[in-house]
Amino acid sequence: MTASVTSLLSGLNGELPGLRDLYKDLHANPELSFQEVRTAGIVAARLREQGWDVTEGVGKTGVVGVLTEGDGPVVLLRADMDALPVKEETGLPYASTRTGVDAEGNEVPVMHACGHDMHVTCLLGATALLAANRHAWRGTVVAVFQPAEEIGGAPAMIDDGFLERFPRAEVCLGQHVGPVPAGFVATRPGPVMAASDSVRVRLFGRGGHGSTPEATVDPVVMAAAVVMRLQTVVSREVGAAQQAVVTVGSIHSGTKENIIPDTADLRINIRSTTPAVRERVLEAVKRIVRAEAAASGAPKEPEITDFNAFPVTVNDHEATATVQAALTRALEEGHVFTLPHTLTGSEDFGVFGTALQVPSVFWYFGGADLAAFKDIDPDALLENGIPSEIPGNHSPLFAPVIDPTVEIGVTSLLAAAAQWLTATADTPR
Ligand code: ZN
Ligand code: ZN
Repeated sequence: MTASVTSLLSGLNGELPGLRDLYKDLHANPELSFQEVRTAGIVAARLREQGWDVTEGVGKTGVVGVLTEGDGPVVLLRADMDALPVKEETGLPYASTRTGVDAEGNEVPVMHACGHDMHVTCLLGATALLAANRHAWRGTVVAVFQPAEEIGGAPAMIDDGFLERFPRAEVCLGQHVGPVPAGFVATRPGPVMAASDSVRVRLFGRGGHGSTPEATVDPVVMAAAVVMRLQTVVSREVGAAQQAVVTVGSIHSGTKENIIPDTADLRINIRSTTPAVRERVLEAVKRIVRAEAAASGAPKEPEITDFNAFPVTVNDHEATATVQAALTRALEEGHVFTLPHTLTGSEDFGVFGTALQVPSVFWYFGGADLAAFKDIDPDALLENGIPSEIPGNHSPLFAPVIDPTVEIGVTSLLAAAAQWLTATADTPR
């Protein structure tokens, strides 16, 4: 018999005020990927207070909590901790004014623009209740606070001996807050999030005076041609029924209007949902970069470097059905949805399930103010996506509402975990 969700959630209302404060504190103090020192310290201290076995510094700044209550299944719950180099514009009283130093040594603004502060808050709420209600379940819970999701930190934890150092879970559960109306949860079996591949490109021209372009090879024009031609990859080389995205998110060249520079640097991001499309798009992007450089008469082949590769996140069919049923029972009627297609966002959560060779389930919980959705029909929302006026993840305006988001996040984690944990004899169902 599985543990009772009601018993695991006992005391949630008492936890909420503290969790709200925790969320505001984390939100005001974001840290870049692999620099989550303050956050990790808070996580470790709270877990210890709650009575968990805590290991710090897993995969650089990761924290792992383990709580065992007798024999039983091992469940992994995961939250990510890192923030983004984004200047917060939410105007919230607890908005971040923090800056950080990125991997290239630049000082950048830092914001929890992806909501990982919400993930940490919700998982710490779940760990508090698991510890407080330990009479109600049997088994082991491994709470993973992962660093650097934005740049693929999960492999760093695996490489740091995660599989050998901690109890081996039989299921991995994780969640992400998004611009879905708060109170609503959505997931799907099979591929739930796309693969993401990033490519760094340096184009080589020959610099010179802006007044004599004939004596130069202009890398700015070359870069512009690359960017425009890349727009044809998805429209001309990917089938209409397939999903792919190609985005040039960064382009840098030159210092002054009358100097033709030597080089241009591009950063390109590619999303895909099947290995065949992934391979085709990556190949096409690299082909176009090389061909445009040749077309411009570049003195040197472009440098093309892959970085930040994320696999497709795949939800196990059976385990997802179990979680969806549990969420449907635990949340308000009609608040659990099946996503109609794979989202083009990416995640490294799937790395844990793949490494452990066990099922994993990932779901989204809403953080957007319900008031913004007054006239929106949930079915239309699923079909057409979130309206563009509602700020999404990575926007400087992304601002999940604290209520009921925290409550729903904690409830969802425990409702899902309860499906694998064993009930105790003294628990009423
Ligand atoms: Zn993100
Ligand atoms: Zn995220």
